[in-house]
Amino acid sequence: MTATIMAIPRHAVTDTAAEAIHVQDLHKKFGALHVLKGVSLSARDGDVVAIIGGSGSGKSTLLRCINCLENPTSGVIRVNGEEIRLKPDGNGSTLPADRKQIERVRSRLGMVFQSFNLWTHMTLIENVIEVPVHVLGVKREMAIIEAEKLLARVGLLEKRHVYPAFLSGGQQQRGAIARALAVQPRVMLFDEPTSSLDPELIGEVLGVIGDLAREGRTMILVTHEMKFAREVATRVVFLHEGRVEEEGSPDAIFGSPKSERLQQFIRRVG
Ligand code: ADP
Ligand code: MG
Repeated sequence: MTATIMAIPRHAVTDTAAEAIHVQDLHKKFGALHVLKGVSLSARDGDVVAIIGGSGSGKSTLLRCINCLENPTSGVIRVNGEEIRLKPDGNGSTLPADRKQIERVRSRLGMVFQSFNLWTHMTLIENVIEVPVHVLGVKREMAIIEAEKLLARVGLLEKRHVYPAFLSGGQQQRGAIARALAVQPRVMLFDEPTSSLDPELIGEVLGVIGDLAREGRTMILVTHEMKFAREVATRVVFLHEGRVEEEGSPDAIFGSPKSERLQQFIRRVG
């Protein structure tokens, strides 16, 4: 594990790599509030897609739709090649997908949120083996072997029997990443994984995410860490008021942004 952020060489994602996530013309309304206004996005195997944008632009809602935590109002979402079935609810929106499909979709995704990721009543290793053992039917002894490997990878093996309350915020987030990896997801989804951390703890979490990116792991990463996004992303998507305002390579987005709004955003946060 690298504790510091270094210039990470970007791997090439070939044009023929399969699509792990496909989102097309996604709309989401909360009552009268039209949050996503026709978002399209895809992540091929090996892509590290960084999503940037101001507060309230719809970044979390987008990830939550992909993970079946919200029902889209309309649009197409495919995860691992499987289209999430959206049933009209008769009021211009949709009903949740069926349980079985939600479970299947989620088992292909590893999600890490801003905070409150680990179950507080379980030790770290119990957190990591919970879904493999109780949802995926992995034998407990096998799950423990895998969990120890994952915890070693995020630098937390010696903390495996500790409860989350006794871990720092950075350790908790690294534990949450290990837990998300335990389902062997095709895609990792990160929603501002460092934004609730004290500044001195951010580097260790970005270090772990950077390692995953360098290994070629497919991910969609919502982040305010622009320098990091520029280093690890294969593609950057700028969301503004529920629309993809601009997307491109990290160098294009940060080096020569075209839209006035993106230029303003980068001046403000960069
Ligand atoms: P971001 O993650 O880019 O900051 P969000 O996706 O969290 O933005 O939110 C986009 C907009 O949708 C915001 O105006 C937010 O208040 C609204 N919103 C998000 N979730 C809900 C919800 N469950 N009910 C009503 N409004 C919501
Ligand atoms: Mg958000």
